[in-house]
Amino acid sequence: MPTGVRLVVLGRQGAGKGTQCVRLSHRYAVPHISTGDMLRAAVRARTELGLEAESLMTTGELLPDDLISRMVAERLAERDATTRGFILDGYPRTVSQAEMLDTILDGELPLHCVVNLEVPTSLVLERLVSRRTCVDCGAIYSIHEPPIQGWNCDTCGGEVVQRPDDTTEAITTRLQAYERETLPLIQFYEARALLETIDGDQPADDVLAETVIAVEHRKKEMS
Ligand code: AMP
Repeated sequence: MPTGVRLVVLGRQGAGKGTQCVRLSHRYAVPHISTGDMLRAAVRARTELGLEAESLMTTGELLPDDLISRMVAERLAERDATTRGFILDGYPRTVSQAEMLDTILDGELPLHCVVNLEVPTSLVLERLVSRRTCVDCGAIYSIHEPPIQGWNCDTCGGEVVQRPDDTTEAITTRLQAYERETLPLIQFYEARALLETIDGDQPADDVLAETVIAVEHRKKEMS
């Protein structure tokens, strides 16, 4: 099995990013680094960062670029990421963060590619309002595909709930932030010839298979 990769995964909220990132991290044996999951853990643990992040997250606003980038820089400095690689999920989210990521990676750990999971807005809205998430491991369910045992996670037994920012108002704010702040990243990475756009509106297994083909191609080119 191929191990090691350095990837950024982009996509609107509800495009299936979380699901694909978990699968890719297993496939390549690299950590799945989700800034949203890290922040939600900080909120639950009531750390200083969590207390600062909570209200912005609940309303769907973005946190300051430098704060997020410091958190990511610390995580990327850990040994698993420096030796094997990483799947970055939810970061970068602005052009300024993408520039900060360049500085963090410092030319020594170049990205293999940036995967853009493309799904129309009409589809993500329905996915997000019906989405339910495990508070402990972040596994994703929906009201149409709930866990087997009540609302407890099939993987870790954690409580499966609706995220506080999966409400219609917060979803609208988050999607607006995506259009305004994150869409420019598509051009940013296209200009660097790093972008791989994948149709996210197909079965999850097919999305994964297409992504792996694209990533393998990029890895071969860089080796
Ligand atoms: P996510 O789980 O990726 O949708 O992130 C949930 C929330 O965490 C976002 O709506 C933001 O409030 C915050 N957040 C996560 N990642 C970032 C980021 N890279 N920059 C700014 N805010 C972020």
